[in-house]
Amino acid sequence: MSLAEDRALLSARRWRSAFVILAAAAFAAMATAGALAVPYAIAGFAVVATVALVLLRSARGQNRFAAPIADVEPDDDLLRAVVAGLPDPVVALDRDGRVLAVNDRARRLAPALRQGEPVALTLRIPELIEAIARAAAEGEEQRVVYFERVPLDRWYETIVMPVKRAATATSPDFVLMTFHDLTPLRRVEEMRADFVANASHELRTPLAALLGFIETLQGSAREDSKARARFLAIMQEQARRMARLIDDLLSLSRIELNAHRRPDTPVDLAPIVRQVADGLETLARDRGVTVNIDNANAMSVLGDHDELVRVFENLVENALKYGAAGRRVDIKLGQGSSAEGEPEAQVSVRDYGPGIAPEHLPRLTERFYRVDVTESRAQGGTGLGLALVKHILNRHRGRLTIESAPGAGAVFTVHLPTVVKVHPR
Ligand code: ADP
Repeated sequence: MSLAEDRALLSARRWRSAFVILAAAAFAAMATAGALAVPYAIAGFAVVATVALVLLRSARGQNRFAAPIADVEPDDDLLRAVVAGLPDPVVALDRDGRVLAVNDRARRLAPALRQGEPVALTLRIPELIEAIARAAAEGEEQRVVYFERVPLDRWYETIVMPVKRAATATSPDFVLMTFHDLTPLRRVEEMRADFVANASHELRTPLAALLGFIETLQGSAREDSKARARFLAIMQEQARRMARLIDDLLSLSRIELNAHRRPDTPVDLAPIVRQVADGLETLARDRGVTVNIDNANAMSVLGDHDELVRVFENLVENALKYGAAGRRVDIKLGQGSSAEGEPEAQVSVRDYGPGIAPEHLPRLTERFYRVDVTESRAQGGTGLGLALVKHILNRHRGRLTIESAPGAGAVFTVHLPTVVKVHPR
């Protein structure tokens, strides 16, 4: 029995009671006024009361075969309570598509949803409205995937599930509609597709160069020893570029695989920074840059030694490559505190080169993002260095901040927590 039918039955009972009282009053008034003899008035009232009683009993009888009103309303209260407690956005509808219950999460998706109103007034998604009608008529689960542009691009899958209160019922009593936000999944899928496309493109460029030079060496330059030496040098550089790319890709996927496992070995950052600066001495000399290290006192964090070497190698190498014009790179180690007030180690790498325009800053740690692709390639870059830095720091529960302005150089700062939590034995 639907909510509307319950209400109709309740009001019929009220009307019948009122009718009996009114009839008694009318016969009493007529007898008092002398319009009707008392025995006739009593007999008339008895007939009216009997008819009303018979009607009332038959209504009760009907009620017994269907569901008593007193049982139906708590059922709907229970439905509303269950819908309110579900973790997903959920709307319960009657067979005609009217809202029986809606939880807060669903209201956040469609604020205009109102109990008792047809859902078609609020959700203007024709395929969803059709699916609700089909579910109510055919009693079978329906799934609808749809895309919304306003207020933001979002993907949803809605499951429309017909529900019977009694297993023996032939048609559903109501329909439950559950919304799943597919947007994060779709974004990850898009990112993966972009990543594969970018990685293939990055590998295809040096590969095409290699194939081209091989053909030339097999053909026109076969006997030209000078051209051969020049081409072989270029081929070697292209092959190295491919090897670097594959190395970086493998490192990224390895770090991603371990992302949830925080390193737990205490490591000192000072020797790591010195080791990195020493390793890049040749590059610094080639570029005419002096590297200064300030305050290299012992500073211990929980970390993976090799991954932290990779972080500082990338940052110092970038400063030497892109900031060479400033002729100086300063590395500073210090203690600070995070936004939450937790103590952290802060290592900044500052260059005095051309700097970076503000619109690029938020995107620098994206895979394959470069301010200037040609310059990055000329410097032997893969576009994955800062993405690696970000992933390694995430695994260490740290972060990278970048400050820069065109003409004012750039400061890349690594923040790593220094709190060593003592685990009870
Ligand atoms: P790449 O392999 O291209 O160096 P990264 O991820 O390490 O890739 O850096 C991404 C881009 O950020 C670089 O291509 C460059 O445009 C910019 N960049 C990084 N470090 C600096 C810096 N110190 N000064 C100016 N630009 C920088």
